[in-house]
Amino acid sequence: MLEAMTNQSHDAAAGNSPLPRNATGRAAGWSRRRRLRACPDCDLVVALPPLRPHERADCPRCGHVLVRRHRLPVQRGLAYAVTALIFLAMAVLFPFIGFDVRGIGNTITLTETGSALARYGEPLVAAAVLLGIVILPLAWIAGFIILHTRILRAAVGPPDEFLARALSHIGPWIMADVFLVALLVSLTKISGMATLDIGPAFWAYCAFVLVMVKAQLALDTDWLWFRLAGEPPAPPGIRPGTNAREQDMTGCHVCGLINPVDASGRGHCARCGDRVHTRAPRSLQNTLALLLLAILLYIPANTLPITHTTRFGGEQGSTIIGGVVGFVQAGDIPIAIVIFAASVLVPIGKMLALAWLCLWARRPDLRDPLAGARMYRLVDFIGRWSMVDVFVVAILVALVRAESLMSIVPGPAALAFAAMVITSMIAAMRFDPRLLWETPSPAQRSGHD
Ligand SMILES: [Zn+2]
Ligand SMILES: [Zn+2]
Repeated sequence: MLEAMTNQSHDAAAGNSPLPRNATGRAAGWSRRRRLRACPDCDLVVALPPLRPHERADCPRCGHVLVRRHRLPVQRGLAYAVTALIFLAMAVLFPFIGFDVRGIGNTITLTETGSALARYGEPLVAAAVLLGIVILPLAWIAGFIILHTRILRAAVGPPDEFLARALSHIGPWIMADVFLVALLVSLTKISGMATLDIGPAFWAYCAFVLVMVKAQLALDTDWLWFRLAGEPPAPPGIRPGTNAREQDMTGCHVCGLINPVDASGRGHCARCGDRVHTRAPRSLQNTLALLLLAILLYIPANTLPITHTTRFGGEQGSTIIGGVVGFVQAGDIPIAIVIFAASVLVPIGKMLALAWLCLWARRPDLRDPLAGARMYRLVDFIGRWSMVDVFVVAILVALVRAESLMSIVPGPAALAFAAMVITSMIAAMRFDPRLLWETPSPAQRSGHD
């Protein structure tokens, strides 16, 4: 790990650095100045050190990873992405899981986990499931392969910048890894009730998830944008070591370049064209409104049944907590802990943490910026894991189909819970962590906000 410099500037290294191969400090005028970045978490302007493969530069103030340099980013990325595409195709085309009770049962494909929900009156939850586990991963892989193949052929143009922006925006919504955990939970839940037949698509999906995670980690955004559009010189007069906002500048969230902004704090990135803001517009209002909506959705998500199970003629609704209790009674304590953590601890912890961060953003006298930055990163990372319970419902509804002997249909809490998870994820994305590092105004310093 290398900490980015805040007070020096000199040539970036050659080798696998994002500088052109022939661009030493003497060859290219702009490269005499070290590349500058505004930390997306704390807004500090820093000078990137020269990086070799497997090295990374962290923000010296908040610890955010600014750049992570990879070895052979095109070749490794393409190898992972093409392998992931093959495994995903196998996972979609072959039989996924078979379910059998006394000779009556059914075999599903992967996409039936979504289509069964639509059939039982939950088209929105079905769309969320299919987007998270198949459609968005497929779009991301296709975009990645097209983009990196064109880079390999040195044939890049404006459509590739669109693809690179799309990869950044799609990435956080890919939930293949969360679905894998949901699969393990679901199979544990029903393994005692019926005979399960694990099909080839199941193993293909497990392999797909592992390779997909590697492909996402292989994406070197800093290097990618350099290859697509070079590195325009930093705005003149910019000083490392102070907040970008105080210099009427801001860092681009897509490609990292520092850009000047107008009097209202807005502008467009000179390299990737995305909109840039010194602070996310109405960040606290939007975060708090979405947080309130998530809290309201959490009430029906927990009080209404998430599934209705018909078994040997009798029908029974089950809430999320009821499901956890069922696992405990059956002795599946690790699964009970996973579901309790994903469905209760993570959502409530996330909402409390976001409310706390909003308070800290408004009250500089109370805040601890470094603790806030760490809390924000944790909230941003764990939020999507709450989708486990929605995926468990999707798998059970599709799979547990044995005519009158046994069936499971989704309950009204499924939609409320999925909406709560997505709303709270957007709430966390709308929160601008740079607010935690702002220099307090004179009114704030004297305690009047
Ligand atoms: Zn920082
Ligand atoms: Zn940009």
